[in-house]
Amino acid sequence: MNQETERVPPTGPPATAEPDSFPWPRRMTFKDMETFKLCELQYRFRKEKRRKEPRTVYQIVGDLTHMGAAEDNPVAREAQLQEQLLKLAPETRLATEGVVRELIANAHALSNKQRVKGKQKEKVLFVCEATVPGWVLTARPDETGLIPAEEIPDYRGKRSPEPGERPGSREHLHLAEDEVLQLAEIKSGRRLQEQHKKQLFFAAMVAAVGQTIAYNGEIRLVVRLLRGKTEEVFWYQHAATERNMRKAAAVIRKIELAVAQDNFKAKTGEHCFDCPYRKTCPAFEAWQKSRRQSSGKRSHPAEGARRGRGGSGYLRLRSLPKDPKLPPAAGQ
Ligand code: SF4
Repeated sequence: MNQETERVPPTGPPATAEPDSFPWPRRMTFKDMETFKLCELQYRFRKEKRRKEPRTVYQIVGDLTHMGAAEDNPVAREAQLQEQLLKLAPETRLATEGVVRELIANAHALSNKQRVKGKQKEKVLFVCEATVPGWVLTARPDETGLIPAEEIPDYRGKRSPEPGERPGSREHLHLAEDEVLQLAEIKSGRRLQEQHKKQLFFAAMVAAVGQTIAYNGEIRLVVRLLRGKTEEVFWYQHAATERNMRKAAAVIRKIELAVAQDNFKAKTGEHCFDCPYRKTCPAFEAWQKSRRQSSGKRSHPAEGARRGRGGSGYLRLRSLPKDPKLPPAAGQ
């Protein structure tokens, strides 16, 4: 499900005599925040639900992988995968299927290494009030669960056992919690990117402030890198919350200013080739035109040829059509 269509509990704007003229709900996801920081105009298009470009085959691979990773029942997972694969063009289906199956298998292998209690098949939507009145922050990690603390080797409370203490016992671990809240994101690539980490820290902040789950301990954050079959672990400490909430509030104030002045600045650059609104963006068209004039060449190589950036490493898919015009996967 697209986060834009999620139903958020009505914690919304304070009662006021004036009708609320704000053009969209006052809520911000990590994606909203990062989009606004990247290009204010893209944020506006996103909030206005402007028509997007069809998803590329690489995005479809990510969609199917997430879908398969979230389904624990192998029979249901297979049926779901087959249904989605039938939507792909025949020439891409075979190669896509191989990659997706490999990534899903890696996701389950990484996930099954842990005994996660209360793992949510339907992902938990965390909501908290922002420090800017009327605004809420939302986050929905790929996986939310509780892990028995004694099973976490990197738990911060761990210390060397004292003489006579049983290694791994409660006394040994000095546990503040019997169970540790863990939030996980799965990423198709091989290498950790800064954004992966930031996304999870944002989710942890929202979980910590919003108390959708009653939990006050440190939060374990896991990024599963499916191509590399590895995971990176971080810990969120509540001491970071105030600073992170201030950063989110600073972005919200800029959004409010842009709305008030009806002025969302376009920022063109290489990122435009990944923007789902580029075909209808006047700033992109003007930028392309000036590039053509200044270089005397055609515009940048086809946008579709830019996939696989950032180390995602879908090497096996490089022979696929550049812009296959695939239908959106379910839930998109
Ligand atoms: S194409 Fe570029 S300038 Fe236009 S909205 Fe997208 S990111 Fe912004």
